[in-house]
Amino acid sequence: MIDLEGNKLAGSAERHSEYPLHTEIYKMYSEVNCVIHSHPFYSIIVSSTGDGIKVISNEGVLFADIPVFTETTLLIRTPEQGQAVARCLNGHRALLMHNHGVIVTGTSVEEATIYALLLERAAKLQVIASQVGSVSWSQTEEVLRKRNQGVFYPKNIKEFWDYCVRAVRK
Ligand SMILES: [Zn+2]
Repeated sequence: MIDLEGNKLAGSAERHSEYPLHTEIYKMYSEVNCVIHSHPFYSIIVSSTGDGIKVISNEGVLFADIPVFTETTLLIRTPEQGQAVARCLNGHRALLMHNHGVIVTGTSVEEATIYALLLERAAKLQVIASQVGSVSWSQTEEVLRKRNQGVFYPKNIKEFWDYCVRAVRK
């Protein structure tokens, strides 16, 4: 456990080198209680295109307008770099980091985890669909309307989380 300045408060594990990603987002967005940073296979492929998430699925609707952080592909190890990522997030739930990985935020560990899984699924669908050829991506206006319909409810997130917990315990 560390504080917002990266000082170790408890625990035996080493502080992660990219901790400023987390601390600077927590400082900038008071509503965020969980920040996930990972290097997921399909999301990295999509990040390399610079296009962001193209929508063909309900999962994609959630991430249609997330930014792509292109300032650097380096590991984020300074507060200044962390602030740059936090600014790029610009109030969105998630962002892609060019040729690096993803950031997904949430008001809880459960919410952020499930959204991280949904982002990777959207990216996987996009990568595979891109190989098919003439893909008809959903249009932006309709995507936003669909998102406003409430594609995923808090109840869905809770059920997905419970499923993941059951799967891990098996
Ligand atoms: Zn990283």
